[in-house]
This record gives sequence, C-alpha cells and structure tokens, in this order.
Amino acid sequence: MAEQREKRPEGQKSQGMQGREGWKESCHLCPRDCGVARGDGEIGVCKTTARIQVARASLHLWEEPCIAGEGGSGTVFFAGCSLGCVYCQNQEISRAAVGRTLSIRQLSWIFLLLKEKGAENINLVTPSHYAPAIQEAVELARKEGLELPVIYNCSGYESVEVLKRLEGIVDVYLTDFKYMDQELARRYSRAGDYPQVAKAALEEMVRQQGQAVFDSRGMMKKGVILRHLLLPGAVKNGKEILHYAFEHYGNGIYYSLLNQYTPMEHREDYPELNRRVTRREYEALVDTALELGVEHGFIQEGKTAEESFIPDFADRGLLDGIPEDGEAFCRCG
Ligand code: SF4
Repeated sequence: MAEQREKRPEGQKSQGMQGREGWKESCHLCPRDCGVARGDGEIGVCKTTARIQVARASLHLWEEPCIAGEGGSGTVFFAGCSLGCVYCQNQEISRAAVGRTLSIRQLSWIFLLLKEKGAENINLVTPSHYAPAIQEAVELARKEGLELPVIYNCSGYESVEVLKRLEGIVDVYLTDFKYMDQELARRYSRAGDYPQVAKAALEEMVRQQGQAVFDSRGMMKKGVILRHLLLPGAVKNGKEILHYAFEHYGNGIYYSLLNQYTPMEHREDYPELNRRVTRREYEALVDTALELGVEHGFIQEGKTAEESFIPDFADRGLLDGIPEDGEAFCRCG
C-alpha cells in the first residue's frame, strides 16, 4: 500500500483550527496536514469533505463504567478518520463519508436529543477531522441547556493546536494510545510519527483535564482516560505505552486496557492480525499495569476477547429523529 502523507516536513507546524472557517479552504486539522480544500469538496486522508457526516447517534453501554453509567453514553459516531488503521474496528464508517449529513445546528440538536434520552454525557467518537464544527455545535447546545460533560473519544493522533482550541469545550479526553513502536505505527496506520504525536497530544490533554473529577454516582465529569486496544502479537508495544504513560502521569490519569480486538477481514498482507489476542497476551499487559502500580485502571474480564463490540451501523440510532435544517426542532415530547 502506498504511504499517504505520513508526516509533515520538518519544522512545519500544523495550523490547527485556522480560525473557524480556514480548515475548509486548506485543512491542517490533524497531523496528516493534507492542505485540501474540503469546503470545495476535496477529500483528505480522513475521507471527508467539509460536510459533517454522522453515521450513528445512540445511547451506548459498552464504554468504561464511569462513562457509560446507567443511562448510557450519548455517542455520536462521526464518519471518516484521519488515522485509517488497517485493522479498524469501525471500518464500515471510518473509510467513507457515510451516514447523514448534518448542519452545525442539527449536530447541536443531536446533543440535546441525547440528553433528553437520558445520556450521561456526549461522547464524540472520532471527532478530530470535524473539530471546529463540533466546537460550534457544543457552544450552540450549551446555550440551549446542554450541561452534560463532553467526551473527546479520539485516536490520539491529534494536533496540539486543535486540542488547545478545544479547552473549555471538552471535559473528558478518552484517547487511544496505539503505538510506541514506530514500525507498527507505519505498518498499520501509515503514521511513523504516531508515537511522538500521541505523546505531545496526551501532554496537552493532561494539562487541560489531568485532575479527574467524579460525581456522587462515580461518573467522570473531568479527566483523561488512556485506552489501549491490545493487538495480536503486540504485547511489547502495549507494555511500552504503559511504561511511558505511567512514568509521566502515574495515577493522575486512568488506564483502560482492551482485549476485544476483532479481526475484521482475512488479510493475507497482515497475517498476524487474523486472530484475536490470547488470554496470555492480555494477562501479560495487565500484569505490567499492576507491577507499575496502576490503581486507576479498567480491564476486561470474562469472555470479552471472544465477543464483538462493534455497533450495528445499519442502525443509525437517533439520527433520523432530527428534522431537516431550517425546520424547528420540537422538544415537546
Ligand atoms: S482532518 Fe482530514 S483533510 Fe484535514 S489534515 Fe487531517 S486528514 Fe487531512
């Protein structure tokens, strides 16, 4: 597979949000730095134009307990992704601009609708390539009474400049940390710079929300959760991530170790990915966390390694309950 703009040239800085509209003329919202005119219909590595595509919006119970709670997390799954891992667990929606096109106002209505359905929070899944639009939608929804925590559920391959602009918008960073191993990052995500990018992004997230806050029911209101999906044969990579994160942030952040990796298709070019992780591999990762002294962690028990946690994206959830732009959003029951 050809490498796609893996890394910006040395010394060149991402321009982050570039004002509210600049990304539509030349997009530098993520470290891919495509520079495409998404507002003119050009498509970046993330597979999207400037049109906001949402694949599904629903209450989701499969997140960490402090995120899912009893009501479920109000997930909004955005289509497209700037990282594009070969093993993507959501590839049905991450590789094309599928789903419904929404205006910023409609996106804010989705947030309000999720709140009315009892969501514990608003959980933005793979949001980075729409960050400025999301910022506006959250601001609109807050003016309309949204007071739920906003969760940025991202790949970790983030622009620090964009994260800085999200200060005050995002309450909880639920971030993947996928690779400490550059070769794995290059092989699976065409992003050899992932480790350094993710380290810088995590530092900014911790700067903003490194002091975790919970309510009386144990729901996270502020904080950072580092997620690592263990890949088959990649225990060393996982251990290195834990060592790095714990040495820098200790128990100031939360750690979520996932064993639910599901092979999405049989791939001859990545034969090592055609199986699930073994119990022994996962236990080795969990043992490392315990040896390091991780106290704030989430692990998966029982048969989760044999289950699929991939949502049914044929079901768009609450999306179809949102009226067309220009119509009134009636919340009278
Ligand atoms: S958000 Fe998309 S278009 Fe913009 S730089 Fe990243 S991958 Fe490229």
